Amino acid sequence: MAYRRVSYAVWEITLKCNLACSHCGSRAGQARHQELSTEEALDLVRQMADVGIREVTLIGGEAFLRADWLQIAEAIGQAGMRCTMTTGGFGISLDLAQRMRQAGIATVSVSIDGLAATHDRLRGRPGSWDSAFRTLGHLQAVGIPFGCNTQLNRLSAPEFPRLYQCVRDAGARAWQIQLTVPMGNAADHAEMLLQPSELVELYPMIAEVARRASVEGVQLQPGNNIGYYGPYERLLRGRGEADDWVFWQGCAAGLATLGIEADGAIKGCPSLPTAAYTGGNIRDRTLHSIIEETEALRFNLGAGTPEGTQHLWGFCKTCEYAELCRGGCTWTSHVFFNRRGNNPYCHHRALVQAERGLRERVVPKTNPPGLPFDHGEFQLIEEPLDAPWPQADGLRFGGDRIQWPEDWFSGTPSMAEIVTATPATTTTTATVTTAV
Ligand code: SF4
Repeated sequence: MAYRRVSYAVWEITLKCNLACSHCGSRAGQARHQELSTEEALDLVRQMADVGIREVTLIGGEAFLRADWLQIAEAIGQAGMRCTMTTGGFGISLDLAQRMRQAGIATVSVSIDGLAATHDRLRGRPGSWDSAFRTLGHLQAVGIPFGCNTQLNRLSAPEFPRLYQCVRDAGARAWQIQLTVPMGNAADHAEMLLQPSELVELYPMIAEVARRASVEGVQLQPGNNIGYYGPYERLLRGRGEADDWVFWQGCAAGLATLGIEADGAIKGCPSLPTAAYTGGNIRDRTLHSIIEETEALRFNLGAGTPEGTQHLWGFCKTCEYAELCRGGCTWTSHVFFNRRGNNPYCHHRALVQAERGLRERVVPKTNPPGLPFDHGEFQLIEEPLDAPWPQADGLRFGGDRIQWPEDWFSGTPSMAEIVTATPATTTTTATVTTAV
């Protein structure tokens, strides 16, 4: 069989959206100028099958606002690929859910970004939380397996354990989490972003939820910027399974994944900034040639060789996991510092810095231009752990802000109690060298 590299594509089929999220990386709302026609979209489906894509996730904006979206979904299935969808779930009726099932949509992930008030605030539409949960009910009624996805930031993180109970009770059996990063609209709201030093108290909370979720039949799935190599790596990446080989193994943009924008721009991952990571447009050249011949789709091919770490700088360059990790999530590091290779959102890094008596904060330096998938630049501040925290920062996250369900602990647990409740798994150090 011919060598095939990518197997999973995330396809923004329109940038039109019925929500107005203050953390939206693509600044969705209006359709893009010159989105692909139906004929062009169906041709792209054929090309995806030809290059070896096995699963396509339709996203937006809001994918179902595109009139021909179920025709595209059906064509994906007919071409032998699995069609899935990620949605804000605002306005999916029972009838639409039935038509989605008929079109062959295999699974749906609905975005839930906090309890009702927080979700509605972040999503910019009153009633969007209720609508999202109605959508979950409709999906359940028609028999489409569904999960949820949640962005963790300073607004949603304190509610995470209680949100888990809502997601579980709604019947979701998979729940993907990701940290909000400063891209698009989120870059205009830096106050909502978690500070790197806050990860030290965030991860024990995530781990406690993951442990309970695993026992209760919900699979907590870490997104690409969750991790890395801290004491909970296997618990989080193992999705509840005890497997020595489940740990972060570096950015897979262009190695396993593709991102497609609604006007035909092709990237190695859907989240990557458009300007720096577009390999080409499907209107100008074939998908095969973009994947095989453009640097934007090939920058990760050096993984496991000395070239694979040449882009690292700052803390990541000095890190013991550098060869395997390659600086974590490219998207995350790039949108903070306008270049990849130094990732401030790393649990291992936050723990090492804390051990040294240090903490890291990021503060905006330049503003983004206001385009889809854009970003500004942040300054990294390293300071003593006991330095005064900026007084104007009222959203600081810490263990004291976490809203625990009443029956999980007796009273409000200390961070030490939480860490004890969710014991660390062994670190991945022993297997790192054999995995490269
Ligand atoms: S410090 Fe950088 S290279 Fe090391 S584990 Fe964290 S993200 Fe990866």
